[in-house]
Amino acid sequence: MKILVRLSTFMADKNNKNKENCTGKFYVDDQCIDCDLCRDMAGEFFARRDLDGCSYVAKQPETKDDIELCEDAMESCPVNAIGNDGDQE
Ligand code: SF4
Repeated sequence: MKILVRLSTFMADKNNKNKENCTGKFYVDDQCIDCDLCRDMAGEFFARRDLDGCSYVAKQPETKDDIELCEDAMESCPVNAIGNDGDQE
């Protein structure tokens, strides 16, 4: 019998946001594994906290294209550490 192990929860948790995230819809929580994917895909919006390698949102997207770019990064994150809950805090 195979046993499946989840590497993360189903979605990012706004209660566990990295404190460096700038205010706005998008955020990264503490599940980040420093894979670099979001920073490669949308480096204008995601940055790396050098202390432990966790990503955070350094700038919120404003244009439709930039929002789609961040949504693509969110959907590509292998551990679902990126969230967009629409909150402004
Ligand atoms: S894609 Fe996800 S796991 Fe990878 S660096 Fe970004 S937030 Fe972290």
